[in-house]
Amino acid sequence: MIEGPAPVCSRAGCRNAARWRVEWRNPKIHTADRVKVWVACDEHREFLRDYLAARSFPVAVAPLDQAGAPPEARQ
Ligand SMILES: [Zn+2]
Repeated sequence: MIEGPAPVCSRAGCRNAARWRVEWRNPKIHTADRVKVWVACDEHREFLRDYLAARSFPVAVAPLDQAGAPPEARQ
């Protein structure tokens, strides 16, 4: 889950505000109902998606605003 009012990009060393959810799982260790979520800024959305896709992990990207926490929880 995404905590706090201003999620930051999951890319190591990146401090940009996240605008995208990157949902993925590792089929070898995660069951089908276990989805991991990274968040990404515009700059790293493609990087993170490609990183996961290159490992043949199921990955889906969605706008954070539409799929994130309710507005009252994010201010
Ligand atoms: Zn970033």
